Amino acid sequence: MMGDRDFRTTIKNAIDSIGRELEIPIDADDFKTINLIEVVQCLRRSYYDRTDPKEIERRGFNDLLSGLLRKLEYGCEPKEFSIDDVKLKGHADMVVDDNVVLFRASQTTPDSPHAEDLLYLNACLWIYDKTDGMIIYITSDREEFTFSLTRNKKMFEEVVRRVRVLSDLLKEQKTPILEPSQNCLDCQYYQRCFIKKASSKQLSLGEMLGMSREN
Ligand code: SF4
Repeated sequence: MMGDRDFRTTIKNAIDSIGRELEIPIDADDFKTINLIEVVQCLRRSYYDRTDPKEIERRGFNDLLSGLLRKLEYGCEPKEFSIDDVKLKGHADMVVDDNVVLFRASQTTPDSPHAEDLLYLNACLWIYDKTDGMIIYITSDREEFTFSLTRNKKMFEEVVRRVRVLSDLLKEQKTPILEPSQNCLDCQYYQRCFIKKASSKQLSLGEMLGMSREN
């Protein structure tokens, strides 16, 4: 009989492998193509994802929602937007009646949309050349909460600025600055950013023997 621990490991492995299948593919060496998901989250995280990646810990099937919807027949195809010689690649979940629609899982009842989801939706409105869009949050109790947005130029200009910054830093192999936020708590690079390695001096066998004689 399968033990509780094995059962959990099996589910975790299943979620991880489905998650890998659904991930938006990113060519780590193509600094001239930046994916929208990379610039709405912390740039440092996106830089590490390309240069020295560590697998993300997925919490459950809810985390796979958006990727699963994109794969369905009414899911959207990705689209590119040119920013000088850099391409910004966006991938909305759906376009319904000229509205861009994003689906996101939420652990709790959302009072307002998350900043990165708003940036993502707004950028999709420019990339897909649409005026209106909505984000639908689905909670684990299967409740839905919808927020609407009309496209905003200033918000998109901020995304464009971040695209240029990330592309330049990747080219110059410079790590972006920390962008501390609530998201750091779930970030797979938390230790790299915030925990300093204790400085330790390696002692030779001779030094250790000398110390024990003195004592
Ligand atoms: S821990 Fe925070 S600052 Fe560091 S990469 Fe992750 S999100 Fe960015």
